[in-house]
Amino acid sequence: MTNPIVRFAPSPTGRIHIGNARTALYNWLFARQHGGSFILRFDDTDKARSKEEFATGILADMAWLGIEPARVERQSARFADYQLVTEELKAKGLLYPCYESEDELERRRARRRARGLPPIYDRSALELSDGQRQKLEAEGKQPHWRFLLPNYKDDVLSIERTEIHWDDVFRGPQTVDLGSMSDPVLVREDGSWLYTLPSIIDDAAFGISHVIRGADHITNTGAQIAIFRALGYIPPAFGHHNLLTGSEGEGLSKRLGSLSLQGLREAGFEAMAVASLASLIGTSDAVEPIPDMAGLAQRFDPQKVSKSPARFNVAELDALNAKLLHGLSYDAVADRLTVPDGVDGALFWDAISGNLEKLPDADRWAEIVRSGAKPLIDDEDRDMVSKAVGLLPQDPWSQSTWMDWANAVKSETGRKGRALFMPLRKAVTGSESGPEMTKLLPLIGRKTVLARLS
Ligand code: GLU
Repeated sequence: MTNPIVRFAPSPTGRIHIGNARTALYNWLFARQHGGSFILRFDDTDKARSKEEFATGILADMAWLGIEPARVERQSARFADYQLVTEELKAKGLLYPCYESEDELERRRARRRARGLPPIYDRSALELSDGQRQKLEAEGKQPHWRFLLPNYKDDVLSIERTEIHWDDVFRGPQTVDLGSMSDPVLVREDGSWLYTLPSIIDDAAFGISHVIRGADHITNTGAQIAIFRALGYIPPAFGHHNLLTGSEGEGLSKRLGSLSLQGLREAGFEAMAVASLASLIGTSDAVEPIPDMAGLAQRFDPQKVSKSPARFNVAELDALNAKLLHGLSYDAVADRLTVPDGVDGALFWDAISGNLEKLPDADRWAEIVRSGAKPLIDDEDRDMVSKAVGLLPQDPWSQSTWMDWANAVKSETGRKGRALFMPLRKAVTGSESGPEMTKLLPLIGRKTVLARLS
């Protein structure tokens, strides 16, 4: 395969979630692996629901994930092209006007079901005479327009089984039957396009070689291949990955704020933890934190992606995020870490990184390094702690200071083990758990410890 061109095509009608990130990442990793390019296309034909703030937000989400689109396109800028193709299809008789209301369509579907027929559109609009159409329009009815699927021989009303085949990048050989589908509506009553036709026109215009998207589009693909062909385009290759669901198996809706990339970013998750989970879950690879995109690209293989939906669980993301942070070097976080003044950043990171679940947790330890903590002293330890204050080693402090101090307190009080170390830790940090004291104590420093304990 040489230099594939792929696209990620969200509608800017909301923020995108971790399931959309999977689609974006699979496109990006595929392009990276094969020396291809990635186009971000905003499917914003729905003028009422598309919002600039969502487009801007999605661009920020892509940048956060580390995806750099080679081009950004907007369908709203391409209506003239869609209009030309629409007229072409009408002229060929492949796009025909229909006047049924949604209620009427529902009644007809019910009648067909009752007769044991598949509930597909029966093409009755094709039987309207010019006069009948004019009358309907004179009554104020606007048509919606359907594409005439090539699922018949001579008579458009005798629909036959008509197979469309493709070799899916993720799922292998696929077959759909155009005979079991309704002619898709491409243009609404108000003249606006549904996503199908603009998507095909753009895929052809931008030279998209591989359409990689969620499995919810599999049935659309049959009709889309038929439309590509009707327009004289060679259809691209298609790949449909399994979808992510919530932990109960429910669909991830765009409105699910906490699972939006924005929500995850604001909650302090690492982009690479999200990217690792979004791309490795539901595959035969182990879900583990991969620190960079090159590592994910190396692992990515559509054959490894399972065919059934994968459940996404935020608890899994918590664990993955912590594991990722624990393995990161100071350099990898330096630009995002607030290090207390006068403290060596690498030493600070070395002291605290193993205790973080999320990077912003570092702020709590930075504050303790800066100005200590409110001591936590149990009644039975008061005496021991006040003796310990008098035994604090002199400056300069180093990583041996903690043990020097503890040994001095041990000799003086006879305490050992947990009864020795825990009260000292609680007195200095105000908490029962935290970073290794050998590393943390010298960063806090004698002056601050004394100030808090005296
Ligand atoms: N805008 C469509 C969607 O978000 C794009 C589908 C496709 O990739 O073709 O579902």
